[in-house]
Amino acid sequence: MTATGTLVPFAEAMERYEPVIGLETHVELGTRTKMFCGCTTVFGAAPNSQVCPVCLGLPGSLPVVNRMAIEYTIRIGLALNCTIAAWCRFARKNYFYPDMPKNFQISQYDEPLCTDGWLDVPVADRVIRVGIERVHLEEDTGKSLHVGGATGRIHGADYSLVDYNRAGIPLVEIVTKPVEGTGAAAPEVARAYVTELRDLVRALGVSDVRMEEGSLRCDVNTSLAPRGSGRWGTRTETKNVNSLRSVERAVRFEIERQAAVLDSGARVIQETRHFHEDSGTTTAGRSKEEAQDYRYFPEPDLVPVAPAAGWVEEIRAALPEAPSARRERLQREWGLPEAEITALYNVGALDLVAQTVAAGASPDDARKWWLGDLARQANGAGVELADLAITPAQVARIAALVAAGALNDRLARDVIEAVLAGAGDPDEVVSARGLAVVSDEGALTAAVDAAIAAHPDVAAKVRAGKATAAGPLVGAVMKATGGKADAARVHELILERLTGP
Ligand SMILES: [Zn+2]
Repeated sequence: MTATGTLVPFAEAMERYEPVIGLETHVELGTRTKMFCGCTTVFGAAPNSQVCPVCLGLPGSLPVVNRMAIEYTIRIGLALNCTIAAWCRFARKNYFYPDMPKNFQISQYDEPLCTDGWLDVPVADRVIRVGIERVHLEEDTGKSLHVGGATGRIHGADYSLVDYNRAGIPLVEIVTKPVEGTGAAAPEVARAYVTELRDLVRALGVSDVRMEEGSLRCDVNTSLAPRGSGRWGTRTETKNVNSLRSVERAVRFEIERQAAVLDSGARVIQETRHFHEDSGTTTAGRSKEEAQDYRYFPEPDLVPVAPAAGWVEEIRAALPEAPSARRERLQREWGLPEAEITALYNVGALDLVAQTVAAGASPDDARKWWLGDLARQANGAGVELADLAITPAQVARIAALVAAGALNDRLARDVIEAVLAGAGDPDEVVSARGLAVVSDEGALTAAVDAAIAAHPDVAAKVRAGKATAAGPLVGAVMKATGGKADAARVHELILERLTGP
C-alpha cells in the first residue's frame, strides 16, 4: 500500500531520487468567439446565455473552424520554435460527461497543428531549454455546479446545474517533453516555465492568460527514480493547478510524497491527483493504470486544416518581440548584468522597472526602489509587487525628488508608505505632511552648531583630523531635524565647521 500522509523532507528526497517533470498547459484563446460557432465568450456572463445549436450539440448542426483560432495557435507554435503542420485534422475524443453536450470533444490527436519546439526558461543563474512536444487545438467543455453537498462534488449534492457558456471555447494545449536533469531545481523550473510561457502568450496577444479566471490552466506531471538508475519512475498528473506558486508547491509536494512511497518499498500509482491550495497537498483522483479508450477518429464534419506556407510566413514575420528578446534588449540598454535582469524578472519586477524607467527614473534608481523598499512592503502585505497601490510613474517621481535633493532616502520611504496607504501622489504627500528635506542652510548650520556644542569630545576628534568620527554629530543633526536633512550635506557642513579655514 502507499504510505499516504508520510513525506520525506525535500532535501533528503533529492539525495536519493532524481525527478522528471512534464507540463501540460491549457490556454483559452482570446478570439472572442467559440471554436466551431459564432457564440461570444465573455467571462462571467449569465449561465447558458452564450450558446447555440452547434455548441449545444443539437442534431443537424455542423461545426465550422474559427480561422482566428488557427492563426493564434500558429502564432504560439512559431514563438515556441515548433514545426507547423502543412496539413492536419481534428479528431473526435469520445467520452460521456454531463458538461460535454455532444458526448464527444473535438480535439487533435495524432495530427497536432504544431510539433517539436522549445522554450528557454531563466532559472536563478542559468537558462534551461524545455522541449515542446506538441501544441494542439481543442474545444473546452461546459461547467457543472453541484448544489447542496458539503464538498461541492456530485456525491451528496441535492441537485446539479450545468452551464454551457464555456462549451466550445477554443483551447490550445501545450505539452512539454519530459524535463530531466533539473534535480532539486525541478519545482522552480516548473514555475519558471509556466511564468515564461504565460508572458510569451500574453506578448503574442492571443490570450489574457489569467490563471485565476481559468484562461491558463496547468497540469503538472511528476515522477521520481532512484539516482543513477537510468530509468524513469511512474508519473502522477496533478490537475488544474491554478497559480504559479501552486505549480512549484505541487511539484515539491509530489516529490516528497513519492519519495516516501518508494522508501516504503511500495510503488507509485499512475493516477491523476488534485492539488489543494489551502494545505499545499495533493490527493488521489482517477487511476490511470488502465488507459481509457477514447475511440479517437478523424472528425468527419470538418475539412482538414492546411495552412498555406505563405500565410505561416506572414504570421512569423509579424510576431512581436518575445519576452526573452526583450530581456536581452533591456539588459543592453540598462547596462545591468544578466543575473540582475533575471532576478527582476523572477520577482515580477521587470515590467515595473521598465515602466519606471520609461517615466524618467534611472534604471539603477528604479531597480533600487522596486527590489528594496517596495519588495519589503509587498512581502509584508503578502501581495505581488504589481498589486501594490503605487504606480511606476509615482515611483519615478519619488526617485526624481531624491535626485533633486528634495527628499532623502528615509523621507522617500515615508512618502512611499503614505502613497501605499492612499494618501495621494508623492507631491501631495510631501506638501501635506511637510516631508521635504530641510534645505535652509541657516537652519541646518544652527543644528550643526548645536550638535557640536552638545558633543565636545566628538568634535575634538573630528577637529584633530578624524573625519570618520563625525557619525554621532550627523546623527544628532538628523534627530534635531526629524530626519528631514540630507545626511551627506550635514556631514559636509560639520567638516566645514570643524576643519575649515
Ligand atoms: Zn455556439
